[in-house]
Amino acid sequence: MKAFDYERPSDESAALQAGSRASSRYIAGGTLLVDLLRLNVEQPALVVDLNALSLGAIEVSASGLRIGALVKNSDLAEHPAVLADYPVLAQALLSGASAQIRNMASLGGNVLQRTRCAYFRDPAVAACNKRTPGSGCAAIAGFSRMHAVLGVSDHCIASHPSDLCVALLALDAEVHTRGAAGERTIAFADFHTVPGTRPHIESVLTPGEIVTAVSVPTSSFAHHSAYVKVRDRASFAFALASAAVALELDGNIVRGARVALGGVASKPWRCPEVERALLGKAANETSFRSAAALAMTDAAPTADNRFKVELGRRVIARALEEARSRP
Ligand code: SF4
Repeated sequence: MKAFDYERPSDESAALQAGSRASSRYIAGGTLLVDLLRLNVEQPALVVDLNALSLGAIEVSASGLRIGALVKNSDLAEHPAVLADYPVLAQALLSGASAQIRNMASLGGNVLQRTRCAYFRDPAVAACNKRTPGSGCAAIAGFSRMHAVLGVSDHCIASHPSDLCVALLALDAEVHTRGAAGERTIAFADFHTVPGTRPHIESVLTPGEIVTAVSVPTSSFAHHSAYVKVRDRASFAFALASAAVALELDGNIVRGARVALGGVASKPWRCPEVERALLGKAANETSFRSAAALAMTDAAPTADNRFKVELGRRVIARALEEARSRP
């Protein structure tokens, strides 16, 4: 690990000032950055610790949830309002990482998670456009079983690793930020970017901008929501494919649907074609399967991860069934 300076500002203005310096990185729970520092993937000159900021509250109101960026994953998963009204959030959080990591990991860090592509995490591999822009992509001709099939480019096929982000996307969440130009609210669907020709750019955040909170609106569909994750081992692994879904039901008829995929795309991936196909249909296995079959039509798999096309459809159908059966 390369030596770096360390600062722990006590207010947002001081944090922004420190974070605007060249080669600085913010840290909160540290569950990602410390890994990348140890691997020499990240070599910042300055690490700015955000933990003294007042961003650790979960506020519940008639308009929904507002979750501070420093809220720990375990605290969010166990919050009574989340358990009662947003089951997909609790399920997604509890399906991610280990209990020890959930106790440390923050909401802001989760939203800004970086890929687990093995080539990205190994500086001995020269070709990685995300780590070293313009160097190539070792995964495209390499081992790509875990990689993305949606939102990929000739420059990067890395998959987005977060479970929570998939649930937040399905619930129409918004990201609140503060930067040099002031405060912004960004629709979750617009927050992450696809790799295109610039895989090292992963979100619309500007340099030094801080995620301060994520809000989740009250909705008519969050109660009937579910997260289904398929992975190589149930105890602790990233998704091969996952789905977060939410249904607005009128009796047994679907009046509204939200469907998002994880583990198969370069960013949390919304499936509007599936949502549209569900409207007005009976909430049953037949309509769930036929709607789910419309997903993944734009997939561009490699020989290693072709199985994700069918797996993605199956996790959607399973998640819809689970959401429907919620009381
Ligand atoms: Fe790097 Fe992306 Fe290629 Fe992985 S898939 S080696 S992160 S450029």
